[in-house]
Amino acid sequence: MAPSAIPTQDVDLTAANIQVKEATQPTKPTTDDVLPAPLDASKLTYNLTKNPREVPDEAVANASEHTICTDHMLTATWTAAGGWAAPEIKPYGPLSLMPTASVLHYATECFEGLKVYRGYDGKLRTFRPDCNCARMLLSASRISLPIFDPAELEKLILSLLSVDGPRWLPKDKPGNYLYIRPTLIGTQSQLGVQAPREAMLYIIITYMPKLDSPVGGMRLHTSPEDMVRAWVGGFGYAKVGANYGPSLAATSDARRRGYHQILWLYGKDGECTEAGASNFFIVWTRKDGKKELITAPLDDKLILDGVTRRSILEMARERLGDELEITERKYTIDEVIEADAEGRLIESFAAGTAYFVCPVSAIHHRGKDINIPMGPENTPNVITSKIKTWIGDIMYGNVSHKWGVVIPEKQ
Ligand SMILES: *Cc1c(COP(=O)(O)O)cnc(C)c1O
Repeated sequence: MAPSAIPTQDVDLTAANIQVKEATQPTKPTTDDVLPAPLDASKLTYNLTKNPREVPDEAVANASEHTICTDHMLTATWTAAGGWAAPEIKPYGPLSLMPTASVLHYATECFEGLKVYRGYDGKLRTFRPDCNCARMLLSASRISLPIFDPAELEKLILSLLSVDGPRWLPKDKPGNYLYIRPTLIGTQSQLGVQAPREAMLYIIITYMPKLDSPVGGMRLHTSPEDMVRAWVGGFGYAKVGANYGPSLAATSDARRRGYHQILWLYGKDGECTEAGASNFFIVWTRKDGKKELITAPLDDKLILDGVTRRSILEMARERLGDELEITERKYTIDEVIEADAEGRLIESFAAGTAYFVCPVSAIHHRGKDINIPMGPENTPNVITSKIKTWIGDIMYGNVSHKWGVVIPEKQ
């Protein structure tokens, strides 16, 4: 058969091309006077509650079976024909959706997670919210939800925080935080398998228990041999709801066996990727004697580009570059086992908004436990502690840094 008879791939539909399209999508219509309307924070309206709730004690709120949210939420609806309607801050409460809504059938949902911190200097801050908003656009594009200018989303988040932050994170209780969950869902009530022509953005602010210091460190269990969290060409790099539901069974199994999270391995060589929904780091001595901080790379789009991960790498390159090699590359569980056998493991931690920087003390793999050194009396080890302190100091205003974004509050 002549080579020309071999069917050629439709290049427009390759994953690489779809990624190029995602990256170059306009976030605003090209001319100002045509529909659909862009997401516009200057159109925000306020419908404030007449019955503000009593702010619960933190321990009580975190012990509840239901996530406790603040008094208000922000919503903005979108249609393909009209674009974005004016966003609204209104009392927190249930959503109304048709049972045929796209999100309920085809997982047209993506979300973000960031925190708002009450600083020791009395100010209210978020940490690099621009990174979360840019990532939300990337996630939305991956699942055909509407695009928006990430700077407008950031303004909306800050506006909601200005309303609920002062009362729910009082100045006399520095060192506390709340969790912010921007969410985008396809709402079109049409069962056709297609990109939704209606959607809703909403932002809520919630309590979240402190997860960064489990007694004795975080214990990981490697993923089952026949299960993967994400795959090349998939959507592991996007914060879409569809990534999480299918991971819950493995996590429940691991919990029953006394472990906290799954260390997700990938491929026949067992590449280490992520720990639960956090990025994963190891500090070890390489075979050539150099000390190294290592984490999985982003290039094959298997793992999430965590804001915490990125901040740790940037900070470590700046401040630890003389004592450590900082490396993003593929590495396997066998390399970790070998380093353990040769006494080269120094420390390990998981990093993400929810768990912040959480020391890892054990990895269970195929019947064996790898133990990883912690600091004295179960504190995080040296490098983990330094990183945790540096980033925590920015979040809580102990140092002033461009990553800490102050929320305006009425005095
Ligand atoms: C959210 C998330 C992270 C952490 O990202 P941050 O921006 O640091 O909070 C890591 N991995 C997965 C799978 C996640 O969903």
